[in-house]
Amino acid sequence: MRIDLHTHSTASDGTDSPAELVRKAAAAGLDVVALTDHDTTRGHAEAVAALPEGLTLVTGAELSCRIDGISMHMLAYLFDPEEPALLAERELVRDDRVPRARAMVARLNELGVPVTWEQVARIAGDGSVGRPHVASALVELGVVPTVGDAFSADWLADGGRAFVEKHETDPFEAIRLIKGAGGVVVFAHPAAAKRGRTVPDTVIADLAAAGLDGIEVDHMDHDADTRVRLAATAKELGLLVTGSSDYHGSRKTCVLGEYTTDPEVYGEITRRAHGAFPVPGAGGA
Ligand SMILES: [Zn+2]
Ligand SMILES: [Zn+2]
Repeated sequence: MRIDLHTHSTASDGTDSPAELVRKAAAAGLDVVALTDHDTTRGHAEAVAALPEGLTLVTGAELSCRIDGISMHMLAYLFDPEEPALLAERELVRDDRVPRARAMVARLNELGVPVTWEQVARIAGDGSVGRPHVASALVELGVVPTVGDAFSADWLADGGRAFVEKHETDPFEAIRLIKGAGGVVVFAHPAAAKRGRTVPDTVIADLAAAGLDGIEVDHMDHDADTRVRLAATAKELGLLVTGSSDYHGSRKTCVLGEYTTDPEVYGEITRRAHGAFPVPGAGGA
């Protein structure tokens, strides 16, 4: 039984539609796949409708969290997607993009830069607006020569004069919300150092005490030594250990099923969850 518990579709930053993703998962020989788009469950319905026979879908999401200035991701499985408190938090994270970009424009205006919201919105076009679009506006205005130069302490770098923080969920709050919606929580790629600073083991221990179910150990961003260390941490703290591809279609090199989760661990996840059930494929469209 081959189980991949972490994938992304076009509902967030993957390149396959949810329907393409489940078809490819079946073709890759997977028995179970979880769809875990960033801060959204938008792709679930399409994935369910297209689910091939023999493939089971685990509904999920990957929530953007932050603790002590360190970004971290929490995988939430089989929660009730309509549960109001968790739904409101996902919307807050997603809908924060426009107010955040507007706030950066306001900071720049205070610094004497004549950038306007209309200019930034025009540059963003149909894409969801973000810091790179504000940076492009600074280039247009001749404030800096390149987008890269806009990502400096003078302007938009983290902690820079015109930087505005993103709304990200406190991970303890995330655990409370996911559990409240009947879900199971796994800390995604906890030691993926190339993405930025990672949390110390003391935080993992605190999260475990707060109800964290497991940690993702087998992940492309963890080398062999890191996996051994994380597996030991999980054992010590009584946490489940998962493995997954974190597939993003052609956006990343990892292929579906490159790393997988032990069937016993998967069984335990399904036993603990009561917000939703795995969906068996009925040979969809
Ligand atoms: Zn992630
Ligand atoms: Zn991911």
